Amino acid sequence: MEKILTELASYSAVHMPGCKWTVIETYRPQSRQDALFAQGRTKPGPIVTKTRSSRHTLCVAFDIVPFLNGQPLWNADKRHWAYLGHLARKHGLVWGGDWDSDGSSDDESFVDSPHVEWPRSDVAMTRTAIAWRNRQPWFGSIR
Ligand SMILES: [Zn+2]
Repeated sequence: MEKILTELASYSAVHMPGCKWTVIETYRPQSRQDALFAQGRTKPGPIVTKTRSSRHTLCVAFDIVPFLNGQPLWNADKRHWAYLGHLARKHGLVWGGDWDSDGSSDDESFVDSPHVEWPRSDVAMTRTAIAWRNRQPWFGSIR
């Protein structure tokens, strides 16, 4: 994650002047994941997640968003999100922006551009992420 942040900083210095990519959420308690899942289904609001068993609840996922003047750019240009995806794949991670064709029923158009997670198959990276969590204060939730 630190490597991706460093590379995004180099990228935004050239392509997104004044922007700073910021990790807004890593660990998410199951209770919060359940509440997010209900949103847009049994509760009002837009759908913001496609699953109850998020990698966030294991702290092996993070959401990262470019900020400009203190405001998150949720609708940043597609090519900027694509670069985040490129970096994720380069480091062996899974990008939420690649989820648009997974074929699941009610949310097949759901794309989670800010989302990056460690692959479920990679036990070593999962362990690293858990160790990282134990060294960091938990990030609060913005959305
Ligand atoms: Zn996420």
